[in-house]
Amino acid sequence: MIIRGFQTLTLLDYPGKLAATVFTGNCNFRCRYCHNSGLVCEPEKEQEIGEDQVFGFLEKRKGILEGVCITGGEPTLQEGLADFIRHVRELGYAVKLDTNGYRPEVLYGLIEDGLLDYAAMDIKTDKERYAEICGVEGLDLSRIEESVRLIRESGMDYEFRTTVVREYYDEEAARRIGSWLEGSRRYALQAFRDSEAVMCPGLHARSPEEMEHYAQILKGMIQEVLIRGE
Ligand code: SF4
Repeated sequence: MIIRGFQTLTLLDYPGKLAATVFTGNCNFRCRYCHNSGLVCEPEKEQEIGEDQVFGFLEKRKGILEGVCITGGEPTLQEGLADFIRHVRELGYAVKLDTNGYRPEVLYGLIEDGLLDYAAMDIKTDKERYAEICGVEGLDLSRIEESVRLIRESGMDYEFRTTVVREYYDEEAARRIGSWLEGSRRYALQAFRDSEAVMCPGLHARSPEEMEHYAQILKGMIQEVLIRGE
């Protein structure tokens, strides 16, 4: 697996666990709000970090760190992802995977092989505006729906989450997403932050009051609703 970044400690990426985060490059989406545009569009410009370096670090942190988050880009595009996860698990770590859900066949294999402890899947916006925000012409939404189903039925811990951008998220989107994900375990509304690294400039965040309003709408439909990053 090609690793393009390694954060040796995070208190935020893995709910309830002290963790390290591994970043992979490339993505099959081009989300307008993506704040990792360098990693997505020009991953070769980021230094490659050897798997051995990561495993060596994890070996030394056994008993201190509890989990490893694998994020992107989009990790399910990586050859060798399953073997990498296997090795991390053999070292005694729980594994969380972040994904956009567009490769359900990879997700299926990982779940079937019992390689994941936690999955965090992006729900970009409601189904009606999905293709527009993620920049994929001819988007096959059924792939996203399949990943939602696989995760919900997997028995592992999971969350769905949306980065809330004013241009793509409103009360109607909250209601539609709520009814799509009805009964799901956890859903996080994540505040958008503009920066130079964002894929398409000119997008805007929602206010804390608006975020709270959406959370209230969703609370009737999803077991646990969180607001992050304000
Ligand atoms: S936000 Fe995630 S899914 Fe979208 S382009 Fe960036 S890395 Fe890919």
